[in-house]
Amino acid sequence: MFNLRVPLPESGEVFLMNTLTDAQLIVPPEIAGLLDRLTDDPPSIESERLNEDEREALITLTEHGFIVPNRAADTEALNKFFTDYREDTEQMRVTVLTTLQCNFACDYCFQGDHGDYNKHADKMSLEDSARLSAWIETRLDELKPKRLTLTFFGGEPLLNMPVVYDQAERALAACEKRGVTLALGIITNGLLLTEEMVDRLVPYGLGYVKVTLDGDRDTHNQMRPLRGGQGTFDRIVENVRKIAGKVRVAIGGNFDADSVASYPALLDFLKEQDFADKLAKVAFKPVVRERQAPKNIIPLTIVTDKPLNGTCMTAAGSGGSSICDTCQFVDEQLSHLREETKKRGFKTVDGVHMGPCEIHKRHAYTIGPNGSTYACPGFTGDPMLSTGHIDGRTESWRMSAAERFEHLSAWHNCGDCAFMPVCAGGCSVASHTELGDMNMPTCHKPAFESALISLAHDAASAS
Ligand code: SF4
Ligand code: SF4
Repeated sequence: MFNLRVPLPESGEVFLMNTLTDAQLIVPPEIAGLLDRLTDDPPSIESERLNEDEREALITLTEHGFIVPNRAADTEALNKFFTDYREDTEQMRVTVLTTLQCNFACDYCFQGDHGDYNKHADKMSLEDSARLSAWIETRLDELKPKRLTLTFFGGEPLLNMPVVYDQAERALAACEKRGVTLALGIITNGLLLTEEMVDRLVPYGLGYVKVTLDGDRDTHNQMRPLRGGQGTFDRIVENVRKIAGKVRVAIGGNFDADSVASYPALLDFLKEQDFADKLAKVAFKPVVRERQAPKNIIPLTIVTDKPLNGTCMTAAGSGGSSICDTCQFVDEQLSHLREETKKRGFKTVDGVHMGPCEIHKRHAYTIGPNGSTYACPGFTGDPMLSTGHIDGRTESWRMSAAERFEHLSAWHNCGDCAFMPVCAGGCSVASHTELGDMNMPTCHKPAFESALISLAHDAASAS
């Protein structure tokens, strides 16, 4: 069920991939043909009718998961894969929304410096920060993970530095006491980033900072202005320049139909910078918009009547590789921008290994500024979808939300799609927002298919 193949016309060979085992092989067409003979003409692959090479190839293909006894074995392996993924305790992930306030006034985001939003937006207090650390310590004692990954997110997380420092100090103390490795990350708009901040956090385990640039200078300044309309591009770039050698920096960006054309210019600009070779990753994704939006806009975030997807659009969920895209336009543009990014020598996502995202992990928690817990950062905009609270309160509505997330398995509606292990049925926030059912797949198979072709060609040129 999980076998994929891409013919490589240049060499006449075939790229084979199994999405469950992640095995990738480049083989002559006769070897790929063995897989067809297995299903179409089983007697032809009986041992005595094969030569030595073919017998060895069958063993290799079996070892890498390309050959399984039957379809039921594949289904069983898939169920085990998702169960293991969900219950994994090696790593505990906590995304902390230090505040829902933001110093930007992006027009695609319902949060931020619009009206009196910031006046009323939640901000974590130091008392709640202490409570959160106690909650994290309890989880660490229960799970005994090897690694704790703590990501600061918002709103704009750097608007609440006392809580960032407090969390970092307490997390390191808790991890050192238990022999757990701590990794810190920040997802920020970059305006307030300073060297001092990074210097202070690196000893606590700050490993990466993700900064958003929405297109080239003019486009970014239009998309991500301050409240008075002032641009933010130059200051962000200068901040990135100062910290690039100190910590891994990833550049993200949110494009829509109007801004997408400016991204190659942004890539050219980044390529010319003295910090270009220090960028750990460059990856862009579509802006998410309200449900009634035009077809070429991504209807993921409700920005008006129903503020779902409470976080900034910088995609904390899957570490910046969110699969929150929708229509064909976006699938094509995503592939195009990925190729443009690779062409300039930047590391980026391959478009195939996109999931499963953290919503499918039991021990990945998102904590809002008031201590409410959520299944993933994309659901923080709707308090009614909170799955619990760090103080342990058990309101029935939170418990019923938790129950809904417990049984999330959109891939059950995906038939025998080979991309299930890397897609899991798509983004649950998109399914909830667009389709009204978080258990329905949000499908972007064409995006996976084109990324697979690109992956195959990259593998061929590297071999
Ligand atoms: S469900 Fe969507 S928003 Fe949430 S972590 Fe997964 S890809 Fe990200
Ligand atoms: S959502 Fe689409 S691409 Fe993803 S597993 Fe389901 S059918 Fe496959």
